[in-house]
Amino acid sequence: MDSDLDTKIQLVADMILDSGRIVVFTGAGVSTESGIPDFRSPGGIWSRFDPDDFTIDKFLQSADTRKKQWKILVGEGLFSDVEPNKAHYAIAEMEALGRLDCVITQNIDNLHQRAGNSPGSVLELHGNMKRARCLDCQTVFPIDYVEQILKDGMEEPPCRKCFGTLKPDVVFFGEALPEKAMEAAARHSSNCDLFIVVGSSLVVQPAAFMPLYAKEGGAKLVIINIGDTPLDKKADVLIHRNAGDIMDRIVESVKESVARAHQRA
Ligand code: NAD
Ligand code: ZN
Repeated sequence: MDSDLDTKIQLVADMILDSGRIVVFTGAGVSTESGIPDFRSPGGIWSRFDPDDFTIDKFLQSADTRKKQWKILVGEGLFSDVEPNKAHYAIAEMEALGRLDCVITQNIDNLHQRAGNSPGSVLELHGNMKRARCLDCQTVFPIDYVEQILKDGMEEPPCRKCFGTLKPDVVFFGEALPEKAMEAAARHSSNCDLFIVVGSSLVVQPAAFMPLYAKEGGAKLVIINIGDTPLDKKADVLIHRNAGDIMDRIVESVKESVARAHQRA
């Protein structure tokens, strides 16, 4: 038994029960237990693919690069055969319990929505791989459309409306982050009472500013991440463990307290 860990879990559960507005901030680490590698850990995506290939300039310059990227991102099913894990379900449960203002995520895997968070409660800072967008007419298509075209043997999907160039609706290196989502994320972070980081190294800017906005606004900060982060010292509760197990235990503890309160009432 790790009594220090038990105490921290109970402490976070109590913070969740006592806070009005709770923001959960997630990075690649919330999805590694679903089998999607993160960027920086050994064996992560960048030890298999070349990040230089995922720049917007390369994507725009060459049909060969676009074909290669569609193959990696959609053809090889990087995001298709994965299921949400305990951490995603725990975060969805927080919304069901009325204990969540929003999830701000750097992930593009759609797993928060798949776990049950309402689309309106998920702010996507880097887009979502379930969509493709036409760079010419801006029409958005479900990724199934691209998948089918690749299955039919075409290497680059054309826009069905204007035959323009489609791009995964995610932020590539060299691209600006979606302004509306960034503004909303900053606002929700500044106005929350409790900010919980789950599985992010907090080194990618400007997304990593969100916990600082929260702290400046007077919120408590909880960090649940295997590795160290530059903001560890600022955390009110710091747990260097797996997100799935810890988030599950925290939310179970919240539910037990809610049930006890109902029994007493
Ligand atoms: P990151 O790779 O920089 O950091 C991930 C962090 O998660 C690491 O500090 C690691 O210690 C921690 N971690 C790994 N597994 C964990 C687990 N089971 N429980 C708790 N912590 C765990 O990722 P980042 O900070 O999110 O930023 C990198 C970028 O990667 C983001 O911009 C995101 O868009 C992109 N990305 C997304 C996905 C996805 O959609 N699933 C996958 C890879 C990368
Ligand atoms: Zn088009």
